[in-house]
Amino acid sequence: MKNFALIGAAGYIAPRHMQAIKDTGHRLVAAYDPNDSVGVIDSHFPEADFFTEFERFDRHVDKMRRANHNHRIDYVSICSPNYLHDSHMRFALRSGADAICEKPLVLNPWNIDGLKEIEQDTGRKVNTILQLRVHPAIIALRDKVRSGKHKTKHEVDLAYITSRGHWYLQSWKGDAKKSGGIATNIGVHFFDMLHFIFGDLQQNVVHHASDTKAAGFLEYEHARARWFLSVDVEDVPDAQRAAGQRTFRSITVDGEEIEFSGGFTDLHTRSYQEILAGRGYGLEENRCAITTVSEIRQAQPVGLQGDYHPFLL
Ligand code: NAD
Repeated sequence: MKNFALIGAAGYIAPRHMQAIKDTGHRLVAAYDPNDSVGVIDSHFPEADFFTEFERFDRHVDKMRRANHNHRIDYVSICSPNYLHDSHMRFALRSGADAICEKPLVLNPWNIDGLKEIEQDTGRKVNTILQLRVHPAIIALRDKVRSGKHKTKHEVDLAYITSRGHWYLQSWKGDAKKSGGIATNIGVHFFDMLHFIFGDLQQNVVHHASDTKAAGFLEYEHARARWFLSVDVEDVPDAQRAAGQRTFRSITVDGEEIEFSGGFTDLHTRSYQEILAGRGYGLEENRCAITTVSEIRQAQPVGLQGDYHPFLL
């Protein structure tokens, strides 16, 4: 049985990590969050130690490292705000544990280089949650594309509208310095998925970028993709909005809708199973998606020209 520690235990995504640790037969022994709204721990690991101060958590983890072998932390799961991942992964590795870090792994590709050095120094590994890579429908599509029957590049349209209330722009998620902005925070899943299915990135054009929506065009080895992301309910198409829907997702490949709405519930557990079996996705697997979102953040939007997503009109 492996020992886990969890950083960012009071947040939205942390319970999925607690569930994944439980589902894979391991235990959470220590958790840290500056916010103490962590009653959810009782539903999973009531015995876990909890800290609201980093220094006390650090001291505890270090004490366990120096104690007998059974008490050591084997994995640190990281569910903190995006801009802190980098530092929290370094803490995990220096503490003699492997890291399991939420998306986006880091905000910029050069952060990956620093982490690689620490991996080499410590002999520990960074694993990431890229849960769409373990989704059966995505794996099937990748296999189909890689079987290479298609002569020209695939034409992809991707729209994802996930409405958020006014709180979003007041929280760290709405602060580009902390979250990387919408393309990073919400888009990184999809940009990693496009790279996973369609190969290396060749061109990256941004048509529009604001606090609540972003859109652009990406060309991959095997695809040309127009994308549109928004957290604004006004962008949900009329028909769906009239039916009370606040979320809209559509991904078409050569005009055909990719159906992958099912099979989302246990993807954290699936990711943990892969990581624990030594098949976790590491630093280099993240480089393409992190470079994509970093470039999108730096880009000057070109407006309505070229291959822009029709939702921009
Ligand atoms: P959240 O705001 O609900 O939770 C973040 C938690 O981190 C909060 O409890 C906060 O108190 C804590 N925190 C703040 N500063 C901290 C610090 N210095 N040290 C430790 N903890 C600190 O956000 P969330 O939605 O749970 O997102 C957490 C991470 O998970 C983000 O990286 C996000 O991108 C990612 N996420 C992934 C998915 C997915 O589908 N894989 C979905 C949502 C969020």
